[in-house]
Amino acid sequence: MTARIREFLKQRRDDGPCLVVDLEVVRENYLAFAKALPDTKVFYAVKANPAPEILKLLAELGSCFDVASVSETEAVLAAGATPERISYGNTIKKECEIAAVARLGVTLFAVDCEAEVEKVARCAPGARVICRIHCDGTGSEWPLSRKFGCEPDYAADILELAHRRGLVPHGISFHVGSQQHNIEAWDRALASTAAIFRSCAERGISLAMVNLGGGFPARYVRKTPKLETYGRAIFRALRRHFGNAIPETIVEPGRGLVGNAGIIEAEVVLIAKRSPEDELRWVYLDIGKFHGLAETIGESIRYPIRTPRDRDEMAPCIIAGPTCDSVDVLYEKLPYPLPVSLAIGDKVLIEATGAYTTTYSSVGFNGYPPLRQYVI
Ligand SMILES: *Cc1c(COP(=O)(O)O)cnc(C)c1O
Repeated sequence: MTARIREFLKQRRDDGPCLVVDLEVVRENYLAFAKALPDTKVFYAVKANPAPEILKLLAELGSCFDVASVSETEAVLAAGATPERISYGNTIKKECEIAAVARLGVTLFAVDCEAEVEKVARCAPGARVICRIHCDGTGSEWPLSRKFGCEPDYAADILELAHRRGLVPHGISFHVGSQQHNIEAWDRALASTAAIFRSCAERGISLAMVNLGGGFPARYVRKTPKLETYGRAIFRALRRHFGNAIPETIVEPGRGLVGNAGIIEAEVVLIAKRSPEDELRWVYLDIGKFHGLAETIGESIRYPIRTPRDRDEMAPCIIAGPTCDSVDVLYEKLPYPLPVSLAIGDKVLIEATGAYTTTYSSVGFNGYPPLRQYVI
């Protein structure tokens, strides 16, 4: 928790759960990426947190942006970035969406199959395309596998088709899985990528860029390696597979740029035992899966939760949200230790919630408003 967030929460008068994001932390994170991967451009994955203040700060710092829809593109342009600084990374696009962002000036698109190449060729003639290859997401807590990416052996065919359709085959992208704990996860994908570069070269197609994706972690309950350690491992892998001919590289961090910049303040609504001798308490908060904590699905992301009584004795709890839906349980398979003295009405702080929270919040399930956000 930063001093600025602590001060803000002390002054706060309104009620209900809220996320507070400290822009100073976003700035530090951006500079840390620039330092850990000095030759690699940062394309912020807007879906992690599209708050206009965050986009504006990153645009001012010189960041580029990874977008997935027309409205994310418009938001980035409104924040002051030019269209050359945008990569349209979603491999699943309607033709009208491709045409709309092409009209806005976007010229870089991700594809992962032949049908998508045909669409881009029709709606954004002459654009640059990046072919996304599949990664299995091993080592990550929130895998982005299966749904995206062709088999690496197929990529050269897809890029050759792009070339025949008048597009510019620009490079390869992959995503090693979000909240990736294994610093070597990039190695295998880069081995495949280098093989695709060679195969394209044999067909007379010269690729320019590797998009290293996201995957850089935020610090939750489990400890993670430092960003510099990721940077060094990625550089070693690039050297190993590309030798002295390292291509242009970009990264698309989402979580790693904004995750630790935000804290949710929530409140304990109820503490219940299911029988008098029950050891396990049910702790109900005024926020749950439907109001921003969707990444607790499968208990994937385990947020640090702080209470005002953390020096007291701890005992395991089941933590749940306030809604009338039984899937609205955050941690049960692996119960969460909370102080025995925790009381109804206590405020709790859910740390590292700057990424993938506000936009996952429902518009009003059970009449609860979407998660409020303050960017300071
Ligand atoms: C979501 C996403 C990212 C961001 O991933 P993080 O693990 O949050 O850094 C990057 N690239 C693409 C294509 C994405 O869909």
